[in-house]
Amino acid sequence: REGVITAVNLAAEKLTGYLREEMVGQMVITALHDEKELRERALKGRSMRLLEADGVELLTARAAGGEMDEMELTYLRKDGTRIPVNLAMRAVTTASGSVSGFVVVAFDITERRRMLDHITYMATHDALTGLVVRSVLQEHTAEAVERSRRWGTKVAAFLIDLDQLKRINDQLGHQKGDRVIAEIAHRLQRGVRSSDIVGRLGGDKFAVVMTDITNARDVEQCAQHLVQCMAPAITVDEHEIYITGSIGVCTYPDYATDAVHLLRRASLAMNAAKENGRNQFMVFNESMLRETADRLSLEHALRHALPNGELSLAYQPQVSLSSGAVIGMEALLRWHHPKFGQVPPSQFIPLAEEAGIILPIGEWVFQRACMEGMEMRRQVGTDLIISVNLSPRQFQQSNLVQVIAAALQTSGLPAASLEIEITESILMVNSESNRDTLQRIRDLGVRIAIDDFGTGFSSFSYLLQYRVDRLKIDASFIHKSVDDTNAATIVRTIIAMSHSLNIAVIAEGVENEEQLRFLLRRRCDEAQGRYFSGPVSALEFEASVLNLNDQPISLSH
Ligand code: C2E
Ligand code: MG
Ligand code: MG
Repeated sequence: REGVITAVNLAAEKLTGYLREEMVGQMVITALHDEKELRERALKGRSMRLLEADGVELLTARAAGGEMDEMELTYLRKDGTRIPVNLAMRAVTTASGSVSGFVVVAFDITERRRMLDHITYMATHDALTGLVVRSVLQEHTAEAVERSRRWGTKVAAFLIDLDQLKRINDQLGHQKGDRVIAEIAHRLQRGVRSSDIVGRLGGDKFAVVMTDITNARDVEQCAQHLVQCMAPAITVDEHEIYITGSIGVCTYPDYATDAVHLLRRASLAMNAAKENGRNQFMVFNESMLRETADRLSLEHALRHALPNGELSLAYQPQVSLSSGAVIGMEALLRWHHPKFGQVPPSQFIPLAEEAGIILPIGEWVFQRACMEGMEMRRQVGTDLIISVNLSPRQFQQSNLVQVIAAALQTSGLPAASLEIEITESILMVNSESNRDTLQRIRDLGVRIAIDDFGTGFSSFSYLLQYRVDRLKIDASFIHKSVDDTNAATIVRTIIAMSHSLNIAVIAEGVENEEQLRFLLRRRCDEAQGRYFSGPVSALEFEASVLNLNDQPISLSH
């Protein structure tokens, strides 16, 4: 109770490097800790009252109350080395209820940390070039904009598109094309200051973001420099390859109000540079906005989509890989406009978010998915789970929990059969209000899934914190997993880690048998994708399930 160690097991000797007799009766528990870390934690406000030894408080009020309390801390071994450990603590109480001591279970999480670092790196860096991926670049750009807002400097974004990559790929093959991309990435990185951010946005698109610029002329010089650094021939085996780039430039705060705006306008300028004959840079100007007139009319039409009854939901079956049975479906929003035809969600959902109409649309989606979900459950005759996508903007909505509760109530769908799909970006903002909203959704009994897992800042610690039910591995990893060892490693690691955390894993976008076989071998729990069935209307859903049951997937690995 005073912190003096009274008993240890063999594993504790191994873990700490101390012998039993050096610890038992001789040592206070806090001596095993990195003292600075303990103090920092205590300062950060975790209630480390109670077990006070050497003036350092370790155990929390919860542990003393008889509950299990867990945290990740660092142990200091006898030989002076440090190891990260997961500590679980619990009070031992006498029959009368008073605390007689504490049990501490520590396990070495070095390997887990290494895996975490590894996947975080893989998910944030492009495998071919080592440059950061789009989501990270956007994140860094937002930070740069924030800094420059404070300091009154400028941020410049350069979006670069290689002009002839497709031709090179077609003529010399993708392998040589990849070497060209890697060389360009290398030159871009060398061509800028180390404080600038260079990212690969996919395919043949790159971005450079420069911070702390004070002079507009510098920006043009940098752009010219980037154009030039692509000019020298690239030697790939016996070939001498010449490649050029089209660069679009935009600066904050001159032509953009925030980071998203900045990158979008740089991209408009890049398109203009391409149309204007390639191998050059163009700085954004207002005339380029005319091209977005299309967008305005789309936005206008979208405002009427809901009242005009142009929205509907399609449902994509989700299949258990252990039983082959359909266990649920994802509701996917569809918009059919009389003039524009079928508009893809990737186009109109961001628009609805920016135009501020995602909230009424999202509310309609919940109502509709729960009602139609009930009907499909009745027809199919099983307790299917209905997954609904949630956009980050909806997450800020103050009455989100009421919206969900109302949809459950009017439809009669049990809360445990509804799942919301959120993206990692929601978890990344570790704000009180986000935590609170998630908790209240959980309290309703609704399940939580993480969508597009692996494409953001994947961190398993978020998952531990929020207790999610399911991870959806992003389709891009599934597609690559078959012939890209990096992607395969990511998928394997995600599955293994999730299982150790008791979280189910579903693979998105499974398109062929080869991908399915890979997933079966890795013991992935569930799958969804065109291999089984594309999204279908509520009316077609039953037929689609019957069809799937008629052709059971071969579960032999
Ligand atoms: P998501 O949630 O990741 O949805 C999966 C997407 O993969 C869907 O695209 C689906 O049609 C598509 N898909 C299905 N099978 C396959 C396959 O075998 N291969 C490939 N490559 N893709 C497949 P969709 O319907 O175009 O939706 C795109 C995104 O729009 C969704 O991605 C989701 O983020 C968003 N979305 C859709 N409905 C809603 C909604 O009601 N609310 C919100 N906020 N977002 C939605
Ligand atoms: Mg989804
Ligand atoms: Mg997804």
